[in-house]
Amino acid sequence: MSILNADLHCHSVVSDGTLTPEELAARAAANGVELWALTDHDEIAGQHRAAAAAHAHGMKYLTGTEISVTFAGETVHIVGLGFDPDDPEMQRGLNDTRGGRGARAQEMAEQLAKVGIKGAYEGALKYVGNPELISRTHFARYLVEIGACKDTSEVFRKYLTEGKPGYVPHRWATLRDAVQWITRAGGLAVIAHPARYKFTANEEYALFSEFKAHGGQGVEVVTGSHTAAEYVRYADTAREFGLAASRGSDFHSPGESHTDLGQLPYLPGALTPVWELLADRIQ
Ligand code: AMP
Ligand code: MN
Ligand code: MN
Ligand code: MN
Repeated sequence: MSILNADLHCHSVVSDGTLTPEELAARAAANGVELWALTDHDEIAGQHRAAAAAHAHGMKYLTGTEISVTFAGETVHIVGLGFDPDDPEMQRGLNDTRGGRGARAQEMAEQLAKVGIKGAYEGALKYVGNPELISRTHFARYLVEIGACKDTSEVFRKYLTEGKPGYVPHRWATLRDAVQWITRAGGLAVIAHPARYKFTANEEYALFSEFKAHGGQGVEVVTGSHTAAEYVRYADTAREFGLAASRGSDFHSPGESHTDLGQLPYLPGALTPVWELLADRIQ
């Protein structure tokens, strides 16, 4: 059961990807994906389109999203899979989570103007597919366009991360709310790319413990954000905490993402894949 080309993490123009749900489905299918989920940030407006496109290409589909959470002063991402996309409580929660992005983007632009980068708000907006979902990624694309940096990774390094001139901290959803929205809508909550967080060992332990206590059941082990050593490390963490394992590229854009849809190693054996727990939610 681990030997399945499942890709349960990627982004479309509905959040900060550059392809439509239909273009992603075509690309996933061409790359041999058998089970797919579109997981736009804080947004599920693309879910019905994505499911239809998956079926048109003969792929199985799980509903998905990636919720921004503030935990111990850091931003943590919680992927939700297999929930009811029409669940009103989840829709309200995500709507609230998206709420602060406009003001935050204005503030980012003001800070960037102070270091000589003018018009960044309008510039970022040109790349935005969903007006409620303006993100750092859209600013990064604009800064590459005007030649401020050579690629988006350099923009994040120089401008958009903590301590840098365009970084504006933001309070997202709580861990408990995010996990509850997902589970009460019939889905399964997954800690996204755990190696990316700058937590101490104690903080990471607290994240996994609290996540479990709130009803979270999964962790991404094989993701485009992890190294091979981190696959092994988080396979151990999954076993330690009794969590199911997920696999996803976190693909955003052909020009930017180094891991393409469906192009990851399979999950290590002896782990329970999240799709085993979600068998009755697969469409
Ligand atoms: P936001 O939700 O506006 O804070 O933007 C977060 C998004 O920025 C993530 O989902 C990634 O797509 C992107 N991102 C964050 N850090 C980096 C990085 N170091 N390099 C490239 N993209 C990044
Ligand atoms: Mn993103
Ligand atoms: Mn993420
Ligand atoms: Mn992501």
